[in-house]
Amino acid sequence: MARCCLQCFDDFVLREQIRSRKDVGDCGFCGAHGVEVLECRELEGYFEPFLELYESVPNGTAGTTVPMNQCLPLWQRLQQDWKLFSARAGGQERAILADVFGAGTGHAGYPSSADAYVRNPVLVVGGQTAEAAGMRAAWDALCRELKEENRFFPQKMQDEDKQKRLLACVARVVPSKSVMWRTRVSNQGRLPPRKMGRPPAKSARSGRANPVGIPYLYLASDKETAVAEVRPSRGVHLTVGRFVTTADLRLADLTRFSPFQILLADADHFAELVKYFSYLEVVGAELGEPVQDDDAHLDYLPTQYLCEMIKSLGYEGVAYRSALGSGHNVALFGMDGIKCTSTTLVKVTSAVFDFEQT
Ligand SMILES: [Zn+2]
Repeated sequence: MARCCLQCFDDFVLREQIRSRKDVGDCGFCGAHGVEVLECRELEGYFEPFLELYESVPNGTAGTTVPMNQCLPLWQRLQQDWKLFSARAGGQERAILADVFGAGTGHAGYPSSADAYVRNPVLVVGGQTAEAAGMRAAWDALCRELKEENRFFPQKMQDEDKQKRLLACVARVVPSKSVMWRTRVSNQGRLPPRKMGRPPAKSARSGRANPVGIPYLYLASDKETAVAEVRPSRGVHLTVGRFVTTADLRLADLTRFSPFQILLADADHFAELVKYFSYLEVVGAELGEPVQDDDAHLDYLPTQYLCEMIKSLGYEGVAYRSALGSGHNVALFGMDGIKCTSTTLVKVTSAVFDFEQT
């Protein structure tokens, strides 16, 4: 049996899993040398739960009413729906999967031929499932209600239990001694570390994550993203603060998603929850979208609501992608476990703009 490597996969959980073995060798599929590898069979437990999602079509597409584009060999179905394999493994997906299931050894759930077709009775082609689309529509209705009708006791509550169970799958622990960054405009000179914390409650304006009067600490994963997030113009002076975590911080990570997160966190409900998972991707992206109008307080309500739900689950903060920088942002709900250790003054020497006609 050949071994597959970390570079064969795009899925970040599979990559972390292979990396954690610290077993370096040559990949039997994509041809990479001196990379982290593992026996394909060791991934069987990861792929097996997917079989529950699909129906076998024993005689190929002949005689079925299933649309051709939904009727695919298993490996192709997995790649189309979940994008697990990397482009580097292109053409080898079928062989990798056959080794994962030990094809020919009579695995009960695996189609006897690697070319056997499966169809998916639940997933909508194109990535978005009907379940996730329904949850998204309910989210939109809730957003409208929060803005226009009922602020504190909304009637259009979506399935809160499911939403909380999904959020429980995306926990990420930022270990103690991790570095993060925060930037403030400071044309009067460098600000000291004690001035780099969150604003006092009475002057806390509403933000993407925090409601007015309840300040959060907004940080970024790297300096460049921290600078981009304040949208500075050329010539402006900024104080860049370096923050270090003094304890492990538990975040809801909305920057990246893998169906295996559900498998690791809530295996018993995998088949049910995985269909809703892409919904988190949609609302996570909304957290990173810059709002143009400073008076657009109402536009912040839905994401503030989401962050309150995350906070109520015991998370210490939320991580989300930055629409302005290449890294990600972190909003911390409190100041425990984080400290600004030093600051530097920088001057913005260029600001790049791309635009298009609308
Ligand atoms: Zn490989």
